[in-house]
Amino acid sequence: MRIGDVTVHSLPDGVLPMPPTVLYPDLPMSTWRSLPGTVDEDGLLPVPFGGFLATDGQGHRVVFDLGGGFAPQLIPGGELPAVRELLPGHLEKLGCPLDSVTDVVLSHLHIDHVGWASTNGWPTFSGARHHIHAQDWKHFVVDGADDAVRDKVSPLGDAVVLWEGDSVSVFDWLRLVHAPGHTPGASIALIESQGQSLALVGDLFHHPAALDHPDWRCGFDWDAELGASTRAEWLERLRETGTPLVGPHFPDFKPVTLR
Ligand SMILES: [Zn+2]
Repeated sequence: MRIGDVTVHSLPDGVLPMPPTVLYPDLPMSTWRSLPGTVDEDGLLPVPFGGFLATDGQGHRVVFDLGGGFAPQLIPGGELPAVRELLPGHLEKLGCPLDSVTDVVLSHLHIDHVGWASTNGWPTFSGARHHIHAQDWKHFVVDGADDAVRDKVSPLGDAVVLWEGDSVSVFDWLRLVHAPGHTPGASIALIESQGQSLALVGDLFHHPAALDHPDWRCGFDWDAELGASTRAEWLERLRETGTPLVGPHFPDFKPVTLR
């Protein structure tokens, strides 16, 4: 994908088939069965996880979200996904060795987004700054909302760059915008170059089917009400600007343009 001067690649890390009620507890199975190409014959929704790589021709190599990591335990007590641990190999194949990544942007600190933050207690991307909203750092690491997440991101040490407030500009083409609800510090990455744009939305939406239904409650939202209003607000904003959006759980990591 080309966004002006910026090239964006998807970085699949794996796929976890799950009952869609795990993601959207209030929705009946009949809703999913009526949506072609979603659930399989066993009623499972194949949910990809992973991230994206953006390069700008000025030496910046930015990875957005880090998938499940080594031996990912993505649902408490759940099985290991059969397809997993692909993200580092994809980066190498794109000619981007792990130590050449300059920046990592984490949309939020859930385990399926921070998986490769560290491996065996060492940062996986040894040369990268890791951009994290301060409210997520406080919630998950300082206040200890999730031990597994804290263990993954604690080895980052000085490589963590906490940002606060509504938005921050990382490069002239990259802006991070606070979009709380799913987690306290959830954020969206806006890539804008030469009049083109793309929104990497993290878990604002887990599936394109939800783009017509911002009121669908996500089972993993920290604040369900705030989550719903943030989703509605962003739908309007992205529709107005004609900005395509994509998240790391979208099928084939394919961006969607709202109409
Ligand atoms: Zn997720």
